[in-house]
Amino acid sequence: MKLNDYSNLKEIHSLDNMIKVHLDKIKEEESRIDFIVQKRKQKDQDLKEIEDKEKSIQDELNQMEVKLFDLEKKLNTSKEHLPLASNQKEATALENTIMTLTPQVDQLQEESLEKLEKLELLEEEKKKIEGFLKGSLNTLKEIEEEVSEIRKTENVPIGQYEKRIQLLIKDTQPHLVSTFLSIREKFRYKRPLVRVINNTCEFCHFHIDQMAQDRLETFQSIETCSQCSRLFIPLEA
Ligand SMILES: [Zn+2]
Repeated sequence: MKLNDYSNLKEIHSLDNMIKVHLDKIKEEESRIDFIVQKRKQKDQDLKEIEDKEKSIQDELNQMEVKLFDLEKKLNTSKEHLPLASNQKEATALENTIMTLTPQVDQLQEESLEKLEKLELLEEEKKKIEGFLKGSLNTLKEIEEEVSEIRKTENVPIGQYEKRIQLLIKDTQPHLVSTFLSIREKFRYKRPLVRVINNTCEFCHFHIDQMAQDRLETFQSIETCSQCSRLFIPLEA
């Protein structure tokens, strides 16, 4: 191992950070898609709830109409029979029936109207949601195309950085680079390389003994922090 090997690792790490900037940009763009997808999901759910409500109101309405038909029939029959009543008792009975049924019919008619109004409101709400779903589908397609273009653009420098990283990997002492690569898998964007400052790991402040520091600074061995597992680089690197 030489100083140059550690400089290569440092360069790989800065290239990683540059790659991260482009990856973040792609991620940010993709979150625009997620936002619309989530909103559409919510509206889809709302639409289903409205349809369920409509169905239950329609069922109630159907039942009310059957009942109303029946009551109206009875009421009309009583009204037709009233002038034909053969005695006072019969006439009073018919009048009582008419008096009982009339408010019931009125109330049912009123309730039916209320239900119809509710259905109309729900239908309007449904149309609005359907309009949103249609419009947002177009927006989604447009944004997906934009994001796909941005992804292509951002992937160009990423590809160049990756190529450079491959060259650096080949140009670095194999044991050191393989140790670095396995640490990098965990800490690629989280400072995989650290120095020993005041006898401690500069990241986690774990104490490093003098022997290990000497081995590191004289390029005799590869040293990693036994607490945070990061790779130490010599001070002069
Ligand atoms: Zn540490």
